[in-house]
Amino acid sequence: MRLANINGTPALAVDGGFLDVASAPASRYDSFDTVFADWTGFRGWAEQAVRHASAPDYPHDTPRGPAVPAPRQVFGVGFNYAAHSQEAAALTGGVQIDALPLIFTKFPSSITGPSGRIELPDTRTDFEVELVVAIGVAADRVSVADAWSHVAGLLVGQDVSARAVQFLGPEQHTIGKSFRTFSPLGPQLVTPDEFADPTTLELRCWVNGELRQKGTTGEMTYSVADLIALLSAVTTLLPGDLIFTGTPAGVGALEDPPRYLQPGDVVVSEIEGLGRMENHCVTGRPAPDLGTRWHG
Ligand code: ZN
Repeated sequence: MRLANINGTPALAVDGGFLDVASAPASRYDSFDTVFADWTGFRGWAEQAVRHASAPDYPHDTPRGPAVPAPRQVFGVGFNYAAHSQEAAALTGGVQIDALPLIFTKFPSSITGPSGRIELPDTRTDFEVELVVAIGVAADRVSVADAWSHVAGLLVGQDVSARAVQFLGPEQHTIGKSFRTFSPLGPQLVTPDEFADPTTLELRCWVNGELRQKGTTGEMTYSVADLIALLSAVTTLLPGDLIFTGTPAGVGALEDPPRYLQPGDVVVSEIEGLGRMENHCVTGRPAPDLGTRWHG
């Protein structure tokens, strides 16, 4: 099943385009909230709806929003690909992730769509293509073996990062990666059953047509199942929550010299079987001087 966001409401991929979920026969689902409140029921209903759809409500090329527009929690994972950890070692002094991955959060309000603009707050903003996992069934202390049964689906994401902010002080992953528009997401949520093997998907990122990142999710140090087991040991993962699972090698900050995003740049992010996003960079309001201005 492939779920998209058209005009802010859920739509299902069918032959020739998309089916509007709210107006489909026997639908009890008029929003993403109602879809995620009953993910298992929705899956069953959607299977029938797709099978019996006569004609699509929207053509294939209809603009789409983020396929999960309003998660309650969004998690990020740092240094989850060995090649990226190695390229970052000079910058970080070598991050020890033997016992526990580096976990941070991204504010849900940073989410934008698969063709949304990326607003650059400064001259050291960077790209990170990532596999994003959406939770379908609440996960409370689940095992690695059981973790995939809590997954709604997979998406393409960008973990846009203001590096100057991210490395202020000890580390500021959360605010450095949570500026407005810093979480492009979409163009669709794809359920795991659509893949022969959902644990090994190729991911790539281009800037202005130049391939900058290439990897496969099979290289992840902590797998999707590992991350769900770990996070759900700490907090209950709620339906619609997202996990950005880390980026492969090739980010701009770690080139010599660094090559950051510029206004006018076009970032294309693609994951095998999940589709592609095209996000245009524009000059945003300048990042505040976070180091000195926030004392009373
Ligand atoms: Zn990242």
